Amino acid sequence: MNVMRVAQVSAPGEKFEIVERELPEPGPGHVRVAVEAAGICRSDAGFVAGAFPGTPFPLVTGHEVAGRVDALGEGVTGWRVGDRVEVGWFGGHCGHCVPCRQGDFIDCADLRVPGWAYQGGFAEAMVAPVTALARVPDALSATEAAPLGCAGATTYNALRHGGAHPGDLVAVLGVGGLGHLGVQYANRFGYETVAIARGRDKEPLARQLGAHHYIDSTADDVAEALQRLGGARIVLGTAASSDAMSAAVGGLRPRGRLVVLGATPEPLRISPHSLIMGSRSVHGHPSGTAQDVAETMAFSALTGVRPMVETLPLDQVNDAYQRMLSGAAASAWSSPSADGERAPGSQRTHRPRPRTIGGDLRRLRPRVRLLPPIRGTTPCRRTAPSGPGPGRDRSARRMRPRRHRPIRGTRRA
Ligand SMILES: [Zn+2]
Ligand SMILES: [Zn+2]
Repeated sequence: MNVMRVAQVSAPGEKFEIVERELPEPGPGHVRVAVEAAGICRSDAGFVAGAFPGTPFPLVTGHEVAGRVDALGEGVTGWRVGDRVEVGWFGGHCGHCVPCRQGDFIDCADLRVPGWAYQGGFAEAMVAPVTALARVPDALSATEAAPLGCAGATTYNALRHGGAHPGDLVAVLGVGGLGHLGVQYANRFGYETVAIARGRDKEPLARQLGAHHYIDSTADDVAEALQRLGGARIVLGTAASSDAMSAAVGGLRPRGRLVVLGATPEPLRISPHSLIMGSRSVHGHPSGTAQDVAETMAFSALTGVRPMVETLPLDQVNDAYQRMLSGAAASAWSSPSADGERAPGSQRTHRPRPRTIGGDLRRLRPRVRLLPPIRGTTPCRRTAPSGPGPGRDRSARRMRPRRHRPIRGTRRA
């Protein structure tokens, strides 16, 4: 029997455990992907907690997956074994519902999210429909490509469909997992880019990523600060804070738009007056289809936009997950905070509230990539979970933070 290792959660709220499963064979219209890297998204916390309706347990989550086509199912054309592919939040669509019949696949009533609708990427291999595949450009490593399937496509798509033109003032609220990509895209799109975050700690990072202006939301009135700059054409709300997003609406210029990415169950508090006077709008935005993911990666390869990642091997999945949840050591890792991370359910009409996973969700959290070990390394049938204890010596970790590539301006030399 051919086997693979997966990181599974056997029941809601449990730790990950590494187990062996039979290597799945792809059915018609599907391929098997040998996973090279998988990102951990804040949405994964919702899946692990069982907060999404119908989450299957034992669960193998993961919807930011980069790898290579490993086997082809019947009838697959256009893909070959060895092709580098990405599978993001968009893991396939039904083809029958009204949005699908209208060509609006990301709003499919039965959107198939990897790690929810079927086994996700916290594994050495997964099977996905060809409609979920995006080709990875040569310029991107697997760890660079992986988060672009969710965090990247979401911010890239939201900005490119946001209605701003080069030179327009565009603000990115939150400099976290989504926001640190949003700032880079806004800069590359030629927008006068404003980063908004709590405190001044993130200002150097935001400016390094391409922000022309920085607003400390704890020290300044965000709306007034944006108006002093002329008013924003777009506020990209990556921070999962309704208060922060609501407070930014007053900073929109006439016909400006708040694009809501930070999913939170708390209601926005926006005065109808502030929308009516100035024809301002509030707009929700989901992620993007596999073609959007492909275009996100192609643009990123072309313009030097890269996610900031840390990598750990698959058998340290509990460590990686805890690092995503709790940013205890994040300041040492040059990682963005997760106040730009989306909470779960942002693709669904009904957005389930994630249960509390632990830790202060506003604290720094790095985005972490899981790397399945290279085949042929010591087999591990079942690895005891190794969550970080309070007194654990973090210097003993094998993790190495990935150095962020310096941004060299909007053009490559
Ligand atoms: Zn995600
Ligand atoms: Zn559909």
